[in-house]
Amino acid sequence: MTTLSSNSYHTDPQTLRQLYINGAWSFPEHPTTLPVINPATEEIVAEVAQGSSADVDRAVAAARAAFPGWSATPVASRAQMLDKIHELILERKEQLAQVLSLEMGAAIGFARAMQIPLAAEHVRVARDLLSTYSFRRIENGTAIEREPIGVCGLITPWNWPLYQITAKVAPAIAAGCTVVLKPSELSPLSALLFAQLLHDAGLPPGVFNLVNGSGADVGAAMAAHPDIDMISITGSNRAGALVAQAAAPTVKRVTQELGGKSPNVFLPDADFAKAVPPGVMSAFRNVGQSCSAPTRMIVPRKRLAEVEALVIATVSAIIVGDPRSEETQLGPIANEAQFNRVQAMIEAGLNDGAKLLCGGPGRVQGFAKGFYARPTVFSEVDNAMRIAQEEIFGPVLCLIPYDTVEEAITLANDTVYGLSAHVQGQDLEAVRAAASRIRAGQVLLNYPAWNPLAPFGGYKRSGNGREYGVHGFEEYTEIKAIVGFA
Ligand code: NAD
Repeated sequence: MTTLSSNSYHTDPQTLRQLYINGAWSFPEHPTTLPVINPATEEIVAEVAQGSSADVDRAVAAARAAFPGWSATPVASRAQMLDKIHELILERKEQLAQVLSLEMGAAIGFARAMQIPLAAEHVRVARDLLSTYSFRRIENGTAIEREPIGVCGLITPWNWPLYQITAKVAPAIAAGCTVVLKPSELSPLSALLFAQLLHDAGLPPGVFNLVNGSGADVGAAMAAHPDIDMISITGSNRAGALVAQAAAPTVKRVTQELGGKSPNVFLPDADFAKAVPPGVMSAFRNVGQSCSAPTRMIVPRKRLAEVEALVIATVSAIIVGDPRSEETQLGPIANEAQFNRVQAMIEAGLNDGAKLLCGGPGRVQGFAKGFYARPTVFSEVDNAMRIAQEEIFGPVLCLIPYDTVEEAITLANDTVYGLSAHVQGQDLEAVRAAASRIRAGQVLLNYPAWNPLAPFGGYKRSGNGREYGVHGFEEYTEIKAIVGFA
């Protein structure tokens, strides 16, 4: 099968069999393909070319050759290019949403409202930043310059496929870097559309290169490559650590956006009726497949019964179903391996004696096919249990009771992760005080609107470095001090 089935918003069949290197579609050195499975039907929807280390070499050579020209391109021209890319994403948003929904199961409404618009935002932010950013400032007679770091290897996951790509590609090319992208082998279709979009925007050859393929082959070759100056990976802790190991001999910069097990701390004065439903929906957003999902709801023991009732009411209203249906809120889990992992973790919760409040093992009723997991909530969870310590990456929420605020903060921090956290409460001083004691890269107070400028990244094993806004942009730069400048 060479073409995409199931809907009319297809990728050009030619590009499925090719990689995008040096401004052109090109067949891999050793042609092999990997099927892309629609998680809603378990059917193969496309066969996509897989690259190898030989293709990584070609892509890196193209990026290296393009670097002097692109890094010297005036900032205003780079901003214009980002503007064009942004415009094309918005123009093609329906096609992108359809393809993304097909490859990883996002409900079409969610793909349209979140996955694609938020992906576009990273491009807009990078474009806007270029109009105000000072690449040189003078401190005590020394010029402190920010220069593009060079050729960047970008490795992305399947859960927010386009969003994770633009979060890296946009700031990298805005900074003047050239890039080689390896998207997840499980969600390569939106990446193919994105490569075509960059081509149509007129990005000079070699500035952006796409090599699809596995982590073990293409990803590892990129991490070890002597001519790549920086690797940015978003993915599991396992892959993040392997990338850092492979990158070490060449002393390249490594930034890692990895897993999470984010707490949602309800202070005693929180408005529970108002704050519990969005807490549940945030945990289950994107079928729980978000690294920052607040999957540990930490609530006063005295209010546990009330919270349980609110949770049950919220979960019973969630519409899980066919991602193509407009009314669906949660589609299937994105792939079989992830579905099996979620099932195993639900079993672990039961075996460890957590109280099952709703959901449980198995598929959603009425689905004989498709990786449809049941939205599941455990109560009376001990934070030492596996379901409270390990990232599940599925629609599984833990309610963890506490007796004192001191204990709530200890529970929030009792994790190897430190990516994100939420705090709910009406006394803003108390909410802020709790936030300052939580060891996480981002703390969200009373569910604020998403801020694409707020730096995002992890403490502890959630990673190194930051993405988004100016902090994300600066990861793609080197600092040069020119002493005696003024
Ligand atoms: P994964 O680690 O299996 O894969 C992520 C990417 O890394 C893929 O492109 C994969 O091919 C590549 N990869 C795998 N092994 C590699 C290796 N040895 N060398 C180089 N590259 C390799 O993760 P996934 O299953 O795609 O995504 C889920 C994980 O990603 C979760 O743990 C989640 O928390 C994390 N995640 C983190 C963030 C964040 O911003 N912190 C965002 C999304 C997902």
